[in-house]
Amino acid sequence: MVLAATLLTLALAAWINLPLVGQIFDQNTDVVAALPQAAAFKRGERVLILSPHPDDETLCCAGLIQQAQAAGAAVNIVWATAGDGFEFAAALSQRTLKPNVHAMRALGQLRTQEARRAAAVLGVPPDHTFMLGYPDGGLFSLFTTHFDEPYTSPRTGASRVYVQGALTPGAAFSGRFLEADLNKVLDTVQPDMVLAPAPQDFHPDHRTLSYIALRLLAARHQEARLRFWVVHGGLEWPLPKGLHPTLSLTLPPLAAQLPWTRVALTPDQEALKARATGQYHSQTRIMGRFMDSFVRTNELLSPEALPDKPSSRSGSGALPTADRPLTR
Ligand SMILES: [Zn+2]
Repeated sequence: MVLAATLLTLALAAWINLPLVGQIFDQNTDVVAALPQAAAFKRGERVLILSPHPDDETLCCAGLIQQAQAAGAAVNIVWATAGDGFEFAAALSQRTLKPNVHAMRALGQLRTQEARRAAAVLGVPPDHTFMLGYPDGGLFSLFTTHFDEPYTSPRTGASRVYVQGALTPGAAFSGRFLEADLNKVLDTVQPDMVLAPAPQDFHPDHRTLSYIALRLLAARHQEARLRFWVVHGGLEWPLPKGLHPTLSLTLPPLAAQLPWTRVALTPDQEALKARATGQYHSQTRIMGRFMDSFVRTNELLSPEALPDKPSSRSGSGALPTADRPLTR
């Protein structure tokens, strides 16, 4: 019975990831083609990418990074965590069946190095990158129950920033220190544009970093500088899995209602994105097909965090439309 259920699950997973099936079931391809183009970058603009884990910056934004730099903008990346919570990756990279805290910390160091290599492939200079090194899988705890009281990561056993080359070595794992570090980065970079995870992203670390970004930028009266992306979009997205550089990246089901704009990538930009993705050996060995599925003809960026945010451009809130009547 269990075997039959497992086989059925595997068969379904294989079937849903066939390219043809993905195209037939994904009605969004035309929707994506009709999206407005994202605004072009300007010379001298300062762009900051908020990446919850090493690899998110590449998956969401490798094309944007290249286009910003080609336009003469300066790109900066900050990683909130070192990605040290993925036990399966530690088991493989540290060659152990049951990774202990030392293996998990070694994974954090390894993923930090991979992140720096990926940034270098994308042409982002080392002094434009910031590793904060807070606990992978722990950001929601830092934001809520451990804003002041230090949090101990069950994976690494650490309660302070330990990763080499971190912005504030030894900083306590607390929301207050995480926010202080992010504020330090914002003060240093003075970004005109901040690319943050959308609050609809399925991963709790991503969602939490989204909330924090909204809070910190609001405190600076700079919410309008935020743009949003999704990496964990729900329902097996992006479909189909694997490297399909001629297909478009369709709308993430969990955030399909956001006012998305489309960033068209050239084949060269896609190729460099694939090379940057390939720097994350510790990840690609496990979920390479998921990661490759972000190498598509476009990336997606939303200027708003929520679908029904009253439009600031209209002056008096959302305009009544057929979809949004004044009365119900
Ligand atoms: Zn992530």
